[in-house]
Amino acid sequence: MTSKLYILYILIALTISYTLTSCSSDGSNHSLKAQSAIAGALNSDSSIVDTNKVVTQDTPKVETITIVGVGDIMMGTNYPSKRHLPPHDGKKIFDGVLAHLSNADLTFGNLEGVIGDGGRAKSCNDPKYCYTFRMPGHYTNHLTNAGFDVVSIANNHANDFGSGGRKASAAVLDTSGLAYAGSISKPYTTFELGGVTYGFLAAAPNSGCFNMKEYSKAAEYVAMLDSICDIVIVSFHAGAEGTKHRHTPRRDETFLGYNRGNVYKFAHKCIDAGADILFGHGPHVTRAVELYKDRFITYSMGNFCTYDKFSLKGSKGVGPIVKLEVDKEGKFLSGELVATKQIDRGIPVLDTTNKVINEVIELTKADFPESPLEITEDGKILRK
Ligand SMILES: [Zn+2]
Repeated sequence: MTSKLYILYILIALTISYTLTSCSSDGSNHSLKAQSAIAGALNSDSSIVDTNKVVTQDTPKVETITIVGVGDIMMGTNYPSKRHLPPHDGKKIFDGVLAHLSNADLTFGNLEGVIGDGGRAKSCNDPKYCYTFRMPGHYTNHLTNAGFDVVSIANNHANDFGSGGRKASAAVLDTSGLAYAGSISKPYTTFELGGVTYGFLAAAPNSGCFNMKEYSKAAEYVAMLDSICDIVIVSFHAGAEGTKHRHTPRRDETFLGYNRGNVYKFAHKCIDAGADILFGHGPHVTRAVELYKDRFITYSMGNFCTYDKFSLKGSKGVGPIVKLEVDKEGKFLSGELVATKQIDRGIPVLDTTNKVINEVIELTKADFPESPLEITEDGKILRK
């Protein structure tokens, strides 16, 4: 090979490598190094850009992306005793809904509790009513085997074992193959799947979490993620809890004397800053959905797989699998709600009565009549 040919070969190789590792939601290209530099400038006190799921494939030309989200997941707790763990060591816990979780480009859920050993349990006045959740570390396998790619650790149970519990969860998740975010030290992450680069931010109004009431800071993170990623997904665990709080108010919600944030303001601010999908949860019941600036918001996906320790009565025992088709800019194309219910103390299965779909139809009509979405009785989400 002559030296001229050799230089040409090197130039072609560099161009191909740069193209494969860039993302360009705003039309400009940024290498992963540039992502780290931008992120570092925003929050230099932690290594918060985490490309822990970099999977570069040779099919970057994606037209439609399928994204699935579900609400709260607590696969059983070994605290205070193993009696609260599911049968078969949890291996079959998602079997009834597997096809709908794994058949997507990306699958998200809210991990409601500590995973792995470490820290000290928070104190409870009455152990009988103590809700302190710790899943065995190897239960991450149940999530990855079911198709989950990314989880939120911003919620009111991720801190059940204090900072030691948080560290334990992070250590377990770091080696699990799951992307995750939502703590103060790791409010967001970025990762690549199937040639699409994702930014993921998770927030909650609870201690140890990135505070969703810091609306401007959230918008700042979203804008940064939007500048370097194709799709920006934001998770929030907020709002008052229970069947009296199925409607979405456009104001701060106070529950048990604590301000649980303004979910409407948070979601809209994130979309104004460049977010593409908002996955809400926290009220333990399902709430309305909304389309704002062509971007999809679900205000609460309720309980999805909350084993033992949770009330599963009525609306608290059903939840949707939210399946969205978006374009490569994150714009909503169409969607589907798959109805699920929990049986046997908290195992999700398909619900042929479609109870949760009827709830979302009713709540969306009541709370967001201006939103250009139509939901059919079998769960299809279309534009009006
Ligand atoms: Zn919660």
